[in-house]
Amino acid sequence: MSENLDPFEIALKQLNKAAEVMKLDRQALELLSSPMNIFQFSIPVKMDDGKTKVFQGFRVRYNNARGPAKGGIRFHPDETLSTVKALSAWMTWKTAITNLPLGGGKGGVICDPKKMSQGELERLSRGYVRAAYEFIGPEIDVPAPDVYTTPQIMAWMMDEYEKIARHSAPGVITGKPLEIGGSLGRGDATARGGMYVLEEAAKSIALDLSKVKVAIQGFGNAGQFAMKLVSEMFKSKVVAISDTKGGIYLESGLDYNKVMDHKKKTGSVSNFPGAKNISNEELLELPVEVLIPAAIENQIRGDNASKIKAKIVLELANGPTTPEADEILFKNKVMVLPDFLANSGGVTVSYFEWVQNQGGYYWTEQEVYDRLRLKMNQATHDVLFTAKSHNVDNRTGAYIVSVKRVADAMKLRGWY
Ligand code: GLU
Repeated sequence: MSENLDPFEIALKQLNKAAEVMKLDRQALELLSSPMNIFQFSIPVKMDDGKTKVFQGFRVRYNNARGPAKGGIRFHPDETLSTVKALSAWMTWKTAITNLPLGGGKGGVICDPKKMSQGELERLSRGYVRAAYEFIGPEIDVPAPDVYTTPQIMAWMMDEYEKIARHSAPGVITGKPLEIGGSLGRGDATARGGMYVLEEAAKSIALDLSKVKVAIQGFGNAGQFAMKLVSEMFKSKVVAISDTKGGIYLESGLDYNKVMDHKKKTGSVSNFPGAKNISNEELLELPVEVLIPAAIENQIRGDNASKIKAKIVLELANGPTTPEADEILFKNKVMVLPDFLANSGGVTVSYFEWVQNQGGYYWTEQEVYDRLRLKMNQATHDVLFTAKSHNVDNRTGAYIVSVKRVADAMKLRGWY
């Protein structure tokens, strides 16, 4: 039988597995098994050719027991409500894992930003905020960048929100450019947070990161900075990297700046001088110690998990591993650092940005890094310790930590 790859079904399966181990109260489980609110709206956009195109937009508020909902907005041609629901659930666990006083939410628009002009993107971004105005706000639900959304898009969205509100409200959205209330350190925060997790995890199995080979799937914000930081911070050797068009493999190691130049010139990482072109599938199965999926969902599945040779899988993407794959990896003693721990550095620095916006006082880059490291180290310890003490995989361990925090907040509020 082929595996069920519906993202929200997967999110529920993961939750149920943890609920069983931790003997979660049935009412708490019921409350956590569906989003609190789903908003869906049409966004009419005047395209450059003068014709109006109507886009479908979503914002899902999964849970706000611990504070305002928080999570990115994706612009993606394959966006579905199920994906946004799953991602909003994962955001709930993600803000809880680093103990932020925030809940979880997520947004999305079905569109292909690669085929849109800057003007069309601006009108779509502003249209999203006009449609979602009542559902978002610094004390309600705070969006941020995600797949194919950028600081520029956050800037347009904040501007539209403030125009409607008629007052300044930088805390309505995070991941903004520095000039208009962004935080130092937000640009590479997802990857940097992941590096702090990787460092702790490697220490726990006595793996010397200066001697490891790394393969990275995906060359967006997370993948690019992971390539840069893993070589800079640990002197690890990145031997493979990929984008949507395919990947490259060079056993002697790839130079970050040269790959960046090549990508800028040619539009993809493929055909890099001296390297072998490989597929995204092949990249996952390379003989490396550390594998970093940093693209999209459902990349490591029941059908390819047994071919993974890495000792550590650092999930910078959201939802890259399916439940069937999780079981295989656990059996094969591959250390999975699950998405909502591994990539929680992004939302953690988003939280720092929001705190700075609300207080109107800004931190130095070093302050951001130091506070991020503290948060990531603590979260990593919590997850590894909990997984070990229950003898479960790290994802289930992470769920146990986060679900308990959210369930406790709901209990105290009298929701069950
Ligand atoms: N979109 C990122 C994530 O999935 C960041 C969310 C945020 O900063 O709110 O974690």
